[in-house]
Amino acid sequence: MKSQQLFEAAQKHLIGGAGAGGRYHPLLRRPLYLAHGKGSRFWDVDGKEYLDFFTGSGANFLGHDHPAITAAIRQALDVGVICNGETAYHSQLADLIAEAVPCAEKVRFANSGTEATLGAIRIARGFTGKPKILKFEGHFHGMHDYLWYNCATALGDLRDDGTIDPIPDSDGMPAALSDLILVVPFNNPGAFEKAVSIHRDELAAVILEPISYNQGCIPAHPEFLRQVRETCSRAGIVLIFDEVLSGFRMCRGGAQAYYGVTPDLCTLAKALGGGVPIAAVCGKTDVMSVLNPIGRTGMSGTYTGHLTAVMGAIACQTEIAKPGFYPHITALADRLYTGIAEALRVTGVPGIVQGIGARFGLYLGVTEPVTNYREAARSNREMEIRFILGCVQRGLYLHDYAHQAPMHHGFSSQHTAEDIDEALIIIEDALRAV
Ligand code: PLP
Repeated sequence: MKSQQLFEAAQKHLIGGAGAGGRYHPLLRRPLYLAHGKGSRFWDVDGKEYLDFFTGSGANFLGHDHPAITAAIRQALDVGVICNGETAYHSQLADLIAEAVPCAEKVRFANSGTEATLGAIRIARGFTGKPKILKFEGHFHGMHDYLWYNCATALGDLRDDGTIDPIPDSDGMPAALSDLILVVPFNNPGAFEKAVSIHRDELAAVILEPISYNQGCIPAHPEFLRQVRETCSRAGIVLIFDEVLSGFRMCRGGAQAYYGVTPDLCTLAKALGGGVPIAAVCGKTDVMSVLNPIGRTGMSGTYTGHLTAVMGAIACQTEIAKPGFYPHITALADRLYTGIAEALRVTGVPGIVQGIGARFGLYLGVTEPVTNYREAARSNREMEIRFILGCVQRGLYLHDYAHQAPMHHGFSSQHTAEDIDEALIIIEDALRAV
């Protein structure tokens, strides 16, 4: 009941009782107020224990209080709370990223995924001198005014040029900026080619989530991704993979290594730092060289590459490079996704689970593979509400954003096979209640 008291007290100065809008849980009608986290679990202020299937929206990829990350942060504090200062640790982290991520010849740090995608499209505009960006319906690239369109909104009308009416996901975004965005249906080669052939001379970049976890888990068709790569190269358009969620999630090189398709630029955050606030734009040397101080495209900040975050991220990257790290993630993923499919079968609830690496989406009321936002939005929200609430009440924490298309859930490297089995019992129970 401390949670309820805290909710009442917090609303005095925090809108919705939360420091960030996304932390409000619409089904609980308040945020979950945490006391502490350890490994695969956290405890709320009332002492209730949860098995964590949210993992900080995918940022806590190494679970809570991972000893290596905690030790690195402590070491950073010993060095001094270094802010807006360069150290040897910064290039050490850049080297680790370059070793892992195929397109990462050069690296520039940022504080958040939102800031990284903002930087990436500025680099693309600086490099090409062109103004417009093509994005895909349902893909989320952060909450800034240039890209926050058609993520979780109503379906826009399809237009003759292969694009969809841009619909902002928030009030307060200047209408004039919608002229700079083209929204196209995902995994649809015809619409993409048409849009590019008409708009190529104005297009600076194509940005996409190669695996769109922001609609659960919708992977690109491999041939579609290859076609997008070829078309961008031919048309002089910078291809950006937004790997804020997919980066490091299923293998060290992220989705670009998984597919064997290399973009010109990519954005990284979340699993880059395993819970510390850090992000990056990485890419090919020619494109990245427009950045200051070599070029005239600016991207910097007081808190960029804060030492606590840099050293936490070095620890995270060192852990994921160890042999045995990804075999563990893959074994848990197989166990979980096979188990959820079986739970759907035995309970008779219509639904499909799609998962790659440590994150997945569950589409209830849908039984065919989901390949784009329109198909994801057909899933049954009422069933999803009952399912998520059922899991949370039984001690398995799934977050909710009140979107029509399901969002992603997932586990960390500190989860065990026993945790997955415990989760599967809860999931089957919650499905029965659905
Ligand atoms: N891009 C993708 C693919 C994301 O999933 C997110 C966040 O969920 C962002 C960008 C924005 O990242 P941040 O919340 O760190 O600003």
